Amino acid sequence: MLEVSAALKQGQITPTELCQKCLSLIKKTKFLHAYITVSEEVALKQAEESEKRYKHEQSLGDLDGIPIAVKDNFSTSGIETTCASNMLKGYVPPYNARVVSKLLDQGALLIGKTNLDEFAIGSGRTDGVFGPRKQNPHNWLITGGSSGGSAAAMSALGSATGGSTRNPAAHCRLASSKPSYGLVSHHGLILLVNLMDVPGILTRCVDDAAIVTLLNHLFGLADVSKLCIEIPKEYLVPELLSEVQSFWSKAADLFESEGAKVIEVSIPHTSYSIVCYHVSCTSGVALNMARLDGLQCSHRCDTDVSTQSMYASTRQEAFNDVVRGRILSGNFFLLKENWENYFIKAQKSATSHLDVFLTPTILSEAVPYLEFIKVDNRTRSSQNDIFTQAVNMAGLPAVSIPAALSNQGLPVGLRFFEHAFCDQQLLTVAKWFEKQVQFPVIQLQEFMDDCSSMITHSTKLAFNTLKRPKKF
Ligand code: GLN
Repeated sequence: MLEVSAALKQGQITPTELCQKCLSLIKKTKFLHAYITVSEEVALKQAEESEKRYKHEQSLGDLDGIPIAVKDNFSTSGIETTCASNMLKGYVPPYNARVVSKLLDQGALLIGKTNLDEFAIGSGRTDGVFGPRKQNPHNWLITGGSSGGSAAAMSALGSATGGSTRNPAAHCRLASSKPSYGLVSHHGLILLVNLMDVPGILTRCVDDAAIVTLLNHLFGLADVSKLCIEIPKEYLVPELLSEVQSFWSKAADLFESEGAKVIEVSIPHTSYSIVCYHVSCTSGVALNMARLDGLQCSHRCDTDVSTQSMYASTRQEAFNDVVRGRILSGNFFLLKENWENYFIKAQKSATSHLDVFLTPTILSEAVPYLEFIKVDNRTRSSQNDIFTQAVNMAGLPAVSIPAALSNQGLPVGLRFFEHAFCDQQLLTVAKWFEKQVQFPVIQLQEFMDDCSSMITHSTKLAFNTLKRPKKF
């Protein structure tokens, strides 16, 4: 983003030209189903305004003229916001989510709304009503979810309840920042779990993630010799792919060789967190989805026997099985007789005092679509969120960084997390690591050239041509 921003400042490219380039890339890669809505007109209009500012030397900063995609569960004024659900198809919010406004205030161009699992529930981006990529199902790999469309878009806002931006980032060779709860407002995000949901950022490198997260540059790198990197031993689970484990330990060695103190620590409640997450998440889903009843802003079925039956049929008709399943479990946990035993206990489990931790982001590299859908959404989520959701429960900041290529030639991510509101420091640690690893940043040209092979071949082939990072 910084090079593009520099090119805009120097007049090597205009915001309109940049916007048109992105729109043409979106058209060429339509088969990826990254976008639900492409807001071409809005973006071109914003580009025109940005162009005027550049002409009058009144640029608003690094984001001025930069196209950004937004997951389709953030409210966007005048642009349909569907959450990839029949329930909200046709809903056009009258206002922008706060984070979207902030980006637009800085001159960013809203290029479109990205695909997701219905209501951001899932970990493969296979469960939205618009579906994942359709052609050649034998040939392609999942992007990860639920913000998989944002990952495919490569410079985007996603939302993170339990891992929805870090997981797809790890599968798609992107950096992802999950800010501390409260640092970046979730106002206008159609929420799953109020106390966990944050906007998550997916970009090609840490610097870009920092600009979107902090609306500011990262000044400098972490002084690694003063760092204590903690390796929680409970994350070494039997399901962890041995390759990923070896990248994890190489990363720890890298910090140690540069003077950091690296220690093994124990977070004894780790194995319970995924269960507590399930209770909190389903309860949040039940509460938040209760307002979608066919009366306002949502789909309404034709039944007019009674209000109750209209509610029931609307919800039966418009939510997919996954969402209905979560509502059902959530309402069970919220029953008066279960409230203390489940919901309150799950809330108490949130951990809060931690140092800089280093763990894998996810158990393995991306799996083929046909293999992924053999297992149901709930089971997949509990596998894929195993490392990610605890920091959402604790409100901590986390960053996933592309670290290595597996033997299959697929990206593997590692993740750092920290004390709440130490986002700036965390990002400088991530940036230091990124610099050491030297994993080549995705170049858009690379994808422009490769689009045709991506249509007929697998995504795997596109990744196989990647250069390996220097240190791994
Ligand atoms: N996979 C998780 C779930 O389905 C995460 C969802 C999210 O972060 N939005 O609960």
